[in-house]
Amino acid sequence: MNTEKIPYKIYLNEDEMPKAWYNLRADMKQKPAPLLNPGTLKPMSVEELSGVFCKELAAQELDEDTHFFEIPEEIRNFYKMYRPSPLVRAYCLEEKLGTPAKIYYKFEGNNTSGSHKLNSAIAQAYYAKKQGLKGVTTETGAGQWGTALSMACSYLGLDCKVYMVKCSYEQKPFRREVMRTYGASVTPSPSMETEVGKKILAEHPGTTGSLGCAISEAVEKAVSSEGYRYVLGSVLNQVLLHQSVIGLETKAALDKYGIKPDIIIGCAGGGSNLGGLIAPFMGEKLRGEADYRIIAVEPASCPSFTRGVYAYDFCDTGMVCPLAKMYTLGSGFIPSANHAGGLRYHGMSSTLSELYHQGLMEATSVKQTEVFEAAEYFARVEGILPAPESSHAIRVAIDEAKRCKETGEEKTIVFGLTGTGYFDMVAYEKFHEGEMNDYIPTDEELAAYRDKLPKIV
Ligand SMILES: *Cc1c(COP(=O)(O)O)cnc(C)c1O
Repeated sequence: MNTEKIPYKIYLNEDEMPKAWYNLRADMKQKPAPLLNPGTLKPMSVEELSGVFCKELAAQELDEDTHFFEIPEEIRNFYKMYRPSPLVRAYCLEEKLGTPAKIYYKFEGNNTSGSHKLNSAIAQAYYAKKQGLKGVTTETGAGQWGTALSMACSYLGLDCKVYMVKCSYEQKPFRREVMRTYGASVTPSPSMETEVGKKILAEHPGTTGSLGCAISEAVEKAVSSEGYRYVLGSVLNQVLLHQSVIGLETKAALDKYGIKPDIIIGCAGGGSNLGGLIAPFMGEKLRGEADYRIIAVEPASCPSFTRGVYAYDFCDTGMVCPLAKMYTLGSGFIPSANHAGGLRYHGMSSTLSELYHQGLMEATSVKQTEVFEAAEYFARVEGILPAPESSHAIRVAIDEAKRCKETGEEKTIVFGLTGTGYFDMVAYEKFHEGEMNDYIPTDEELAAYRDKLPKIV
């Protein structure tokens, strides 16, 4: 392999873009545990799920056997506005680190939403439109998902109602305005618009909200409004399916130059970018065709994989959603104000949870200030100002590259650069002023939430 020939950016041609999403579950011998109906504790059927999700998305959610789902042409055309995304060889970073490692990152921040979330937003909006719905409801934490969904909905002419976690709503007014520019209505959560919002406000007056609360509100609004369904930007199997476009493009780009990665790294909030990035590589691993080291990176303040338990739990605070078996900190867990809003979820994708449980991937947690040190270092050498979420992966990629420097190993490292951080300048400011804290929950705190997990045998 001649490294001289590898360009700074590997682009695919339009006709090399994936024509189908890859469903990783089809290659898993031990499947992820089924979603359970919280009332009956029986596995959810497509019919039951269709009350909350669009029918085709409900079918995708429960399908563990179909290997590939064709990407409808309308979605492929939308993808072409901002995809294929570049796979960048981080030559400048390698040189600065003085590492023999070869570092690549897949950059998903090159669209107005500033993250990979648009890949699933357009798919979910498409199926809602196809079903003849009027609109969709959702929650957003940091705001990337809400932005992505409002872009997709305005493109297709669907109404979009976003419940935005109150502290983000107040801290990130520009995110809110981007969503309104794309025609979405944005409500700070918890709100008085829903029964569950009223209940949460009565129990916790003055709360600044959480993703779990906002999910409960968005679900209630969807099921109580004619012609509306709920959509979610992470955690779900359907979202991992849509995000497989990231991994399929990455693999196609690497294959063009005969490159085989040794280590694949991604940040993990609900697991969608990581699940998408690793999908085709994990598929090879499951089929015994190749081996890769796969590392999930999470914040030390919200350590679902590294300190959570693998158990059935609620996906939301209001306990209206189905139960999922996953690595969880407990649905009542509200992490400290970590600035990587997209990683502040108590649970994790059930697919990734099962893969982690089987020892097919690793997980590690990193402290907030270490993440921002990596973010700043990266911004200065590679030019891109990364999202705090993405910077978790940067941190670990840099650490692995430094290890290669010590051992002299020429490993190939691929990581997911999920987005840009222009709306996170308050976080960067805190970092620069030395005001950022590294709060890590104690074992006692975590145990208190663990004790409240639903008891399911
Ligand atoms: C939402 C988000 C994440 C985390 O979500 P996953 O579902 O775990 O991928 C990571 N990075 C960015 C930029 C995000 O917006």
